[in-house]
Amino acid sequence: MTAPQESGRVLRADGLVRHFGGLRAVDGVDMAVPPGQVTAVIGPNGAGKSTLFHCLAGAQRPDAGRVRFGDRDITRLADHRRARLGIARTFQVVSVFASLSVADNLRVGAENRAGASATARLFGLPDAARGRTRDVVDDALARVGLTALRDVPCGRLPTGTLRLVELGRALASRPSVLLLDEPASGLDDTETARLRALLRTLAGEGLAVLLVEHDMELVFNVADMVHVMAAGRIVASGPPARVRDDAAARAAYLDPAAGDGHREDGES
Ligand code: ADP
Ligand code: MG
Repeated sequence: MTAPQESGRVLRADGLVRHFGGLRAVDGVDMAVPPGQVTAVIGPNGAGKSTLFHCLAGAQRPDAGRVRFGDRDITRLADHRRARLGIARTFQVVSVFASLSVADNLRVGAENRAGASATARLFGLPDAARGRTRDVVDDALARVGLTALRDVPCGRLPTGTLRLVELGRALASRPSVLLLDEPASGLDDTETARLRALLRTLAGEGLAVLLVEHDMELVFNVADMVHVMAAGRIVASGPPARVRDDAAARAAYLDPAAGDGHREDGES
């Protein structure tokens, strides 16, 4: 894989607020997603994790606060323009082109970012660029373990595999920030183990990874920093070992018997 192109930039939420009517889904969140680390957000269903995620990815605008990428204020920047800055995402509900093959879905990711200018798209990519795209796609396929399925139309694949297709598509855009909303849901144990290893590798290469996830075993094994969210706020933050023993984290989420928190068991 090519080196991250904008390595060193931190994606940051400063005082983010997002409400829906009277409900403050995100209620003043400060959080950094630094390069070279896996940053995890956990919390009960309805805590505001996906809303925070959407504000960082650009799918939603916050009502107050800022999103920064390095020195740049990107609070109002559209999601496709964030993608071109190297901020790639996957979706909590899988979103791939069902009629396209696995490889072609990844190619879309590669061309979204790649210097595929409007001119190149209109007149066809020059050979060199096409070769580059192929290399990037092959590399991303190998990384997510889908080389053998490269020519299979996505419409025929189970959800767990499609999550890996999405992740491959995000990687094919050669991001420096990777935002993942529940990437392990629908994965079997082997796929989850592969995901865990891949996230560590990517962080080791300098990527900034944000992981919103309810598979606690995955989170506690892969994250450098864990933020626990409840009712729109971050109630505990720290390395996994510290958060595991944190009273506020336990009450909010980890140990339902200690509070009225509950584990997330569905999509929202
Ligand atoms: P999580 O991802 O932690 O489960 P969400 O960010 O999806 O939480 O939701 C946080 C709160 O905001 C929930 O109470 C949810 O019902 C509400 N919410 C999320 N999106 C919308 C929306 N588009 N319109 C109205 N309420 C929403
Ligand atoms: Mg969610």
